[in-house]
Amino acid sequence: MNDIRPVTDDSRPKIYIETYGCQMNVNDSEVILSILQDEGYALTDDMDKADVILANTCSIRDNAEQRIWGRIDQFRLQKKKRDGVIIGIVGCMAERLKDKLLDGHQVDIVAGPDSYRSLPSLIRAVTPDTPQINVLLSHEETYADISPVRMDRNGVSAFISIMRGCNNVCSYCVVPYTRGAERSRDPKTIVREARQLFENGYKEVTLLGQNVDSYLWKDSVNADNDVNFAQLLEMVAKTDPSLRVRFSTSHPKDISDEVIYTMAMYDNICKHIHLPVQSGSSAMLEKMRRKYNREWYLERVHKIRSVIPDCGITTDVIAGFCGETEQDHRDTLSLMEEVVFDSAFMFAYSERPGTLAARKYPDDIPYSVKTERLNEIIALQSRMSLKSNEKEIGKRLRVLVEGPSKKNSDELCGRASNNKMCVFPSCGEKAGDYCEVEVVSVTSATLICRRLG
Ligand code: SF4
Repeated sequence: MNDIRPVTDDSRPKIYIETYGCQMNVNDSEVILSILQDEGYALTDDMDKADVILANTCSIRDNAEQRIWGRIDQFRLQKKKRDGVIIGIVGCMAERLKDKLLDGHQVDIVAGPDSYRSLPSLIRAVTPDTPQINVLLSHEETYADISPVRMDRNGVSAFISIMRGCNNVCSYCVVPYTRGAERSRDPKTIVREARQLFENGYKEVTLLGQNVDSYLWKDSVNADNDVNFAQLLEMVAKTDPSLRVRFSTSHPKDISDEVIYTMAMYDNICKHIHLPVQSGSSAMLEKMRRKYNREWYLERVHKIRSVIPDCGITTDVIAGFCGETEQDHRDTLSLMEEVVFDSAFMFAYSERPGTLAARKYPDDIPYSVKTERLNEIIALQSRMSLKSNEKEIGKRLRVLVEGPSKKNSDELCGRASNNKMCVFPSCGEKAGDYCEVEVVSVTSATLICRRLG
């Protein structure tokens, strides 16, 4: 296994990486750094010193892509300042736009999410007249044998990708086209990575996949040795009782009772599920091809809460999907009130070229209506977050310290098992320590706590 920390060596050529989008991209950047560090590169956080500038990109919404185009203009200024600087666009936008990114030689390298092993050879092959591209998607690539170089600052929490791609083809989503078919990673390599992180001082790992509940490792010899997500969760939890385990993202159609009971059985599996609902209207869910309806979603929430009463539940919501009526929107609001999510990522629908929705359904909700609905959803969620947090008052929680609070350096902040952010007075603990606290008051975003013991 290689070094899991960035190499700092001034004599090496320098790589600068900007990461956009989801947690999978954060982990992919760590895989990229591992590959390039083995090739003799060292990480820099100063673009002015970089020999290679990479942007690991996101295509999920149009404004995410617009941001990258703006950054490309700034990267190109580096080329004017210094000869030989190489600019690469990697990740989902590279996969979606392919050689359009090379038009007019805007960048030197375009590499999709399954082609990071080829980055060293792409970099070597670049000349002023020959940009390089590799956007082949794979049915096997999981980067299982690569030990990501951790770029986080706190050394406490790390991501582990357990699978890549997605087979669901939700009608609005570009991910199946940019990240390809679903592939699960060998569980032995996942457990090994968790153990290595723990031995290097990490206290929390988050198992990542577009749809972790459909994780399935098929044993080539004996089907009895197949490993599903609940079993994987248990294997990672057994690494050490003081290593916390989180996971993301769950799919409401796939989250099984077995996963819920496994969570309940192990104290170190955090009691938090991110369960994207997207809409509270069954008609919209069908159009989105989510493969569950409102009743199914509410039943899964009921099941989670009956087995794990304190489980944090968070979600994603889309406002103004194609053809959404006022009643569909009201259904979303009523579902949010019924569930009382702890928090939510909320967006106005953004049509993505090439998706089923873009081909089949007109993006017919006016911008002003989308915005109005989104604002209503955000305002409601703010009230629900406060309501959910108020239920925590008086509870005793175990918090993993992330570091000093941003607002007051005499205080610490960290997350409880249910993923809620806690702030409390410092007694000199550092990131990675556990503290016992009691919640005394709350805002919609934070639990304000006193120390116990
Ligand atoms: S489950 Fe649906 S929304 Fe999530 S990545 Fe797959 S296609 Fe996209």
